[in-house]
Amino acid sequence: MATPVKQTTSATSRSIVAAAGRADQGAESAAAFAVEAERFADARVLRYRVPGFETLDRETKQLVYYLYEAALCGRELIYDQKYRYNLAIKRTLEQIVRHYEGDRDTDEFRALTLYLKRVWFANGIHHHYSHDKFEPGFGAEQFAAWVRDTPAQFPRRDGQSLEELIAELTPVIFDPRVDAKLVSKSADSDVLTRSAVNFYRGVTQEEVASFYSTKLAPGDATPISLGLNSRLVKERGALVEQVQKVGGRYTQAIERMVSWLTKAVAKAENEAQAAALRKLIRFYERGDLKDWDEYNVAWVNDTESDVDLIHGFIEVYHDPLGMRGTFESVVSVRDEEATRRIAAIADTAQWFEDHMPFLERHKKREVTGVTGKVINVVIESGDAAPTTPIGINLPNADWIRKDHGSKSVSLGNVVAAYNAVRGGADREFAYGEDELSRNERYGELALTLHIDLHEVIGHGSGQLEAGVASPSETLKNYGSTLEEARADLVALYFIVDPKLIELGVMPSLDVGHTAYDQFVRNGLMQQLNRVDLGKDVEEDHMRNRQLIAAWAYEHGRRDNVIEKRSRGGKTYYVINDYAKLRGLFGELLREVQRIKSTGDYAAGRELVERYAVKVDRALHAEVLERYAALNIPPYSGFIGPRLVPVEDAGAIVDVRIEYPDDFSAQMLEYADRYAFLPTWN
Ligand SMILES: [Zn+2]
Repeated sequence: MATPVKQTTSATSRSIVAAAGRADQGAESAAAFAVEAERFADARVLRYRVPGFETLDRETKQLVYYLYEAALCGRELIYDQKYRYNLAIKRTLEQIVRHYEGDRDTDEFRALTLYLKRVWFANGIHHHYSHDKFEPGFGAEQFAAWVRDTPAQFPRRDGQSLEELIAELTPVIFDPRVDAKLVSKSADSDVLTRSAVNFYRGVTQEEVASFYSTKLAPGDATPISLGLNSRLVKERGALVEQVQKVGGRYTQAIERMVSWLTKAVAKAENEAQAAALRKLIRFYERGDLKDWDEYNVAWVNDTESDVDLIHGFIEVYHDPLGMRGTFESVVSVRDEEATRRIAAIADTAQWFEDHMPFLERHKKREVTGVTGKVINVVIESGDAAPTTPIGINLPNADWIRKDHGSKSVSLGNVVAAYNAVRGGADREFAYGEDELSRNERYGELALTLHIDLHEVIGHGSGQLEAGVASPSETLKNYGSTLEEARADLVALYFIVDPKLIELGVMPSLDVGHTAYDQFVRNGLMQQLNRVDLGKDVEEDHMRNRQLIAAWAYEHGRRDNVIEKRSRGGKTYYVINDYAKLRGLFGELLREVQRIKSTGDYAAGRELVERYAVKVDRALHAEVLERYAALNIPPYSGFIGPRLVPVEDAGAIVDVRIEYPDDFSAQMLEYADRYAFLPTWN
């Protein structure tokens, strides 16, 4: 599970410069480092540093370099997984931008480059957050003319003429009715036929359910993650899984990943890390999901290494049925100092579990191996880039988490980059001076602690009742929203607990109260900035936040726990009673845990549909208006550093890190270096 960025991080000015250097960095880093590189459409592009990279020893740098290449080799998989036309469109547009010799100083050509930037930012032609197809902003005729007039190779199918390629892509790009939505979770229609994602071809939701129902062994205590690494298609009337592995689907990229991972094994820091990497390679070679589980167990057991790798088909948010994983990779180095804070929480995991407001039978008697740490990202790829989570907790399989534990990381240098550009929105939506000054003092710590608790304690907590299948089977399309809600509720429940003061991770309850202010402001108002007027809330994390905040608002109404106030024509939500609000969060947490533990689909559906989806139109319009006045892009993505091996007589003697600052240049560089997949898969 990944924790995305919250609305509360935001920029105030166009070019923000932060001195992100640290004492342990080389001389170069003493210079100011521009965090914000660029803005376009609803996005801004930031940069992060990798503190301490220069001081790693040569072997470790080599290891990081090999993992960096293994990560980037898979970067295009997400394009194809999201939508079967993404690679064709991306490559066609890239060819025009690279080679078109005509006039570029026109509104239409500028619209083309803007559209391509948005496609890069979203890894496809649907918005990464709203999932709506982009409007291109230039005409179909103009598109056809550019393709015809550009002296370059275009990604045609075998035997396809250029005109046929244009004819095939035109409705896909320009007709707003064609594959309008990336992922549809609407309850009242077949979610597969209404979603553009490329995980299924020619099959209905019902057929998928019956296909996998025969593959489930009832009572299996260690079930594999069915469907995680494949596409399901109908071939000659039969359902077939196309498995992503060496020799299978996406082999062209996977073979290269394996080759870099193999080099990495030789440079592993220790045997546990080498063992995990070998199991990952085996998984890619055979495509067997049992190997995937074995790899995850080995990965969880690799707790001593400084360098860590997340690499695989992992998050299932893009599959409306929550089975198939999009490719992502994160290569990171441990941040020792910050890790001590999160370790204090992780070491207390059993205390938290014992003090959960769950029903007794839903508590784990023994919490195993919850490890939490802070990492500094070196590179991210696939689903984790250019937009990145700020916290990650893996693996996703419930039984591995229960029997072997999980690893939870907070992305320290990414969070630092966000904090460097924080600003205005909190000022706009906070009600009083108290709330505001508290937010300025504790806002960053409140956010960090919330993420720590969400990842380290939240996702790993609780247990299913005996015989209840995994939530992806029982709660289906509501599973992800409810799981995120559960983890957020755990964080909210404990963030006002004096235990955290005792642990030395926060100075006073004001930090927790700040977290409550942030959460309520965001869940009821601020995050609506990411939804188009008239649309429902769709994204899982957003649904979860609205669910919690709206539920607490309604259930606390009699006692005026959260009060809706109006001042100068603006709406505010003000918390009057923090203790009672904690009680409400605890009550809802117990219920969400019960839903998960018993697989109560009907109750889960009712909670989500009632509180998490619908938006008050007038309030929504007000939020959009207030944000528009602030001029803050709602989404951020990152330009990654570049690692350059320094060779001497054919051997790598050092690895240099560079920090590019041009988003488009990096995307084109990646397109040159890492385009291994065929256009048509
Ligand atoms: Zn989460």
